[in-house]
Order: sequence, then C-alpha cells, then structure tokens
Amino acid sequence: MAKKMKKRLVSQISSAGSEGPYNYIDGQWRRAGAGGNVFENKNPATGELLGVYPQSTLRDVEEAVQSARKAFDSWRKVPAPKRAEILLRSMRILEERKEMMAEGMTREMGKILQETRGDVQEAIDTALYFAGEGRRLFGQTTTSELPDKFAMSMRMPVGVCGLITPWNFPMAIPSWKIYPALLCGNTVVFKPASWTPDSARQFVRALEEAGLPPGVLNLVYGSGDTVGRWLLDHPGIALISFTGSSVIGSQIGEISGKALKRCSLELGGKNAQIVMEDANLDLALEGALWGSFGTTGQRCTATSRIILHERVYKQFTERLVEKTRALKIGNGLNPATQMGPLVSKVQLENVDRYVQIGKKKDHAKLLTGGEILSQGEYERGNFFQPTIFLGTPEMRISQEEIFGPVTVLIKVKSFDEAIQTLNNTRYGLSGSIYTRDVNRVLRAIRDMETGITYVNAPTIGAEVHLPFGGVKETGNGHREAGQTALDIFSEWKAVYIDYSGRLQKAQIDTQE
Ligand code: NAP
Repeated sequence: MAKKMKKRLVSQISSAGSEGPYNYIDGQWRRAGAGGNVFENKNPATGELLGVYPQSTLRDVEEAVQSARKAFDSWRKVPAPKRAEILLRSMRILEERKEMMAEGMTREMGKILQETRGDVQEAIDTALYFAGEGRRLFGQTTTSELPDKFAMSMRMPVGVCGLITPWNFPMAIPSWKIYPALLCGNTVVFKPASWTPDSARQFVRALEEAGLPPGVLNLVYGSGDTVGRWLLDHPGIALISFTGSSVIGSQIGEISGKALKRCSLELGGKNAQIVMEDANLDLALEGALWGSFGTTGQRCTATSRIILHERVYKQFTERLVEKTRALKIGNGLNPATQMGPLVSKVQLENVDRYVQIGKKKDHAKLLTGGEILSQGEYERGNFFQPTIFLGTPEMRISQEEIFGPVTVLIKVKSFDEAIQTLNNTRYGLSGSIYTRDVNRVLRAIRDMETGITYVNAPTIGAEVHLPFGGVKETGNGHREAGQTALDIFSEWKAVYIDYSGRLQKAQIDTQE
C-alpha cells in the first residue's frame, strides 16, 4: 500500500514537472518557502518555456541542512556495501530512463542528443564505479614501532557536503560528486546550476526511487549568489565541492578558507591541441573539430587554442576551415545537427563580446564564423557560428576562457615553442599533442602543465575511473572521479590498538 502511494506521489510530481516548483528536502518534494518566487527554464534552441523552479529562501536552505545533519548520524553507520546497493539500483533506473533523460537535457541546455546520452552514460558509469567501491573503500594496515600494537588507517565520512554544480554536464558532474559523497557515508545538500534544473530533478528522483533514506540527499534550487552563498556560509556544512568558473571558485575558496571548511574546486580551462609536422593530419583534424565545437565549445576541456607547426599550418588550416563551415548547426534534438545552441542569451552575448575583442582589440585574423545566427530556424535560439581566429599567444582571446565555439590558431616553429605556448596560460586542465615521434610524446607528457594529457586524441574525452582536474588556476589541487574522488569526500583516521596490557610510550626516547 505504502509502495502504491509512493508511486502515485512520484507520478504527480512527474506530471507537475512542467511547472515543478519543488525542492527535495528530508525525503519530500516540497514547495519552497515564502514569496513563491520562481525562475524559468527555457529551451535555448527555441525559447520555449519548459518549466519554473523555486528561488529558494534561507529557510529552505536551513531545512535542507538540518535534514542532512539529522540523516548523517544513521547514514554514516550503514555499511558501505549496503550504501553501494542503493547506488547500483539508481544506476539501473538511469539506464532505463537514459533516452528520456537525454532528450530532456538537450531540451534544457542545447547540446546534441549524442552528447546528452553520453552525459547520462557518464552518470551510469560513475554509479557503477562507486558501487564497486562499496566493497573496497580500502584503508591501510601497517606495523607499529612498538611491540604488541596494531596500527591501521581508515576512511571516515566528512559530514554534510554542499555540492554546487555547473550546467554544461548537468548529470555527469553532479554524479561525480553525489555518488562518492554518499558512498563515503556523507549526506548532501545539492544546488544545481539554474540553467539545468530538470536534469538535477531527474537525477535526484532516480536516487530517491532507488531507496535512499530521507534527508541523505537534499536538492535546493536557487541562484548561486543566494542559495550557493548560504550553503558556503552555513556552519552545518562541513565540505563544499564546487565546479564552475575560476572567478566564482576563487571567492568560494576564500570564504571556505576563512571558515576552515574543506573545499574542492574544479574550475576553468584554456586548453590547447598541438599538431606537429609529423602528425597524422586526418586524425588531428577530426580531433580539433570535435574538441573545439563539441558541446558548442562549452566544456571546461574544450580546445580553445590549436598550436600548429608552421610546416602543416597552411594545409591544416584550409581543411579545418572547410570542415568547420560544413558543420550543421541547429536544434540538438534533430539527429542531423552537429552543433547546438549556447545555453543562454548571457553566454551568447559573452561569446559575441569575445569575438569583438578578437577582431577589434586583439586584431586577430578571423578565418571563419564570428556572427550570431538569428534568421529562420535560428530566430528564437542562442546560436553562434563556429569561429576560428589566427592569433598570437598573448592575445586576450588566446588567454581568457571564452566557453563557446571559438578557437584560436597559433603558429609555432618547433616542439619547444609548442610546449611553451601550450603552457602560456593561467589555467592547466587539459592538453593534447598529435605526433608520431615517441621521444616528443614522452617529453610532452613530462612538460605539459596540465592535469590531463592526451596523445593523438583531442583535449576532451575523460573517463570516470581516472583522476579529473587541473593544475594552476584550474583548481585547488583536488581530483574528481576515480579513486582520487574518495580523498575529497572522506577524512583519514589513524587507529592504534595496543594489546600488550601495559603502558607503551610512542615517540619517547628510551635510550637514556
Ligand atoms: P559559474 O557561473 O561559476 O556557476 C557554477 C555554479 O556556481 C552554478 O550552480 C552557479 O549557480 C553557482 N554560483 C554562481 N555564483 C555563486 C556564488 N557567488 N556562490 C556560490 N555559488 C555560485 O559557472 P558556469 O557558467 O555554470 O560553468 C562554466 C564554468 O565551469 C567554466 O568556467 C568551466 O570551465 C567550468 N567547468 C569546470 C569543470 C572542471 O571540472 N574543471 C567542469 C565543467 C565546467 P547559478 O547557476 O544559479 O548561477
């Protein structure tokens, strides 16, 4: 009976999805507090209104944190293999709903179906990985310096985690945070990006239906500078995990640092692909096209600079421009589309502003693109032409993250100059080199200042069981995904068990 009622409730919520002004707090889909303020979710390809979501109040955040704190005491004691079973059940739900979720995601943020399917698949893969971790979650045993004494270390949960995520991977990035956080025994308050509220709701529902106890995962909608900020300031939140821009990340780091709050930051990138004179040019071209214009350039790992050896520059550039002009731009739901719209008018204006900077201030040479598309099928959407400049390393368009379909070609004379140019940025997320020379491959792996290095592959395409993150201003030294995510979401505890039956003093010099 209870099961039937729950099903009915879920279906009511589902049909209310088009207006959907609910947070998920303490196991219930609740209307947000006083005022009833909402924000709109619109299709960036068509302008169609998809739904409205709550601008939550401080009281909503307070309730979510209290519910997570209450749930923490029992959740942390659930054996990790049992926690993992819930993750695995949620994975099956994601698998069943993959197509529906991918379509919803394309509708709300624009990237093409092939990519939104990949986004949901990444959440599935992450669930599988961390479900397996439920039966590992290894600590270490080691010897003690004293006789009859046993020593080990083990992972402990941190507490309530405040998770703040961007819109460009609306399910994959939340999954990178939520799954390891829950597996380690933490409880969560999740604030998703305001451009992708529906993907967040779908993901949370999968975990709810998989049997997650009330309060363990809470979803609170609202803007970054209200809900996000309140989470940062809340003393009940033990850990902030943030993925987004370096500007906001730096503010978050400062606030968390002052409060001595654990904080992981995954931030921006200005990634480059090197093409040496001995590269397989067909392969390098495909990589450049996909890396630059996949997800409409709105990936933290997007190829926003292409560093070309002067001997292949002409041939490569002509072919890249030709291929770029042939890209089919449109609504991501259309299977023929190769590049969708930008997520919002704000992003569209930002990209246009950078293109103007490229043309008028940097005096870079525009090779193709450079215009907003606003006629015919593009009239109501946020479409921009895929754009290529020829530039130099110091230009603003070569230094600043544009986060759109714009890439800058830079000509170099040698391998050393190529590496130096790749490293000439404040970011350090992803880098790639195309060459057939094994010595150069190994030197590039050693010398690229990036968290992720690709050889004969584009700058995008990370896998969930390897560390993800970057150096320099791309983050603060943490890595998501794989084993390294566990270090974000757990505290190490050292345990000593003395079975000698007498007082043994460690760190005491007994020679005298
Ligand atoms: P963003 O503007 O920094 O926002 C990211 C998240 O932070 C959103 O949920 C946003 O809420 C929230 N937020 C905004 N201001 C805040 C504040 N003052 N306090 C607390 N939270 C705040 O970034 P975005 O435009 O969504 O994403 C694009 C950026 O993310 C790019 O720089 C990209 O490189 C980076 N990114 C990095 C990685 C990585 O792993 N390194 C992966 C993906 C994206 P609202 O949505 O309500 O504004």
